[in-house]
Amino acid sequence: MSLTGTYDDANIFAKILRGEAPCVKVYEDDHVLSFMDIFPQSSGHFLVLPKAKSRNLLELDDAALQETMVRVKRLAAAARKAFNPDGIVVTQFNGAPAGQTVFHTHFHIIPRWEGEALGRHGGGQADMDVLKDQAAKIAAAL
Ligand code: AMP
Repeated sequence: MSLTGTYDDANIFAKILRGEAPCVKVYEDDHVLSFMDIFPQSSGHFLVLPKAKSRNLLELDDAALQETMVRVKRLAAAARKAFNPDGIVVTQFNGAPAGQTVFHTHFHIIPRWEGEALGRHGGGQADMDVLKDQAAKIAAAL
């Protein structure tokens, strides 16, 4: 998938946004949905999606981007409060060659700890009970 093309309504995040596929929800409002990454690269790795349809950052309109980024910051602050990490990666990939695998715009929030290596992107699936517990902790810290 390059940077050109059309939005695919059958992508997994579109299905989650429509409630047709499950997620471990962290936060939702009119502008964004946030849920745990099921193949986390670190403990507490979660995602923030603008609800507006766009395949990548370059297609997201400015108003939706602004609404989203304010929430990304708020959610990153909640993750800091919940997990007390040494650092937090906020990242986002555009196009398959850049590492994007799901083509609905999303931001990763990845807590990091000193001396702990980052897991493989799209590695092993997490335990759902652990993810639910982490989501509850982030939500409680908002
Ligand atoms: P990206 O490579 O930036 O497109 O990231 C997509 C992310 O979505 C990866 O980190 C995957 O682990 C994650 N992911 C894929 N499917 C799901 C799903 N059904 N629920 C939660 N996270 C998912």
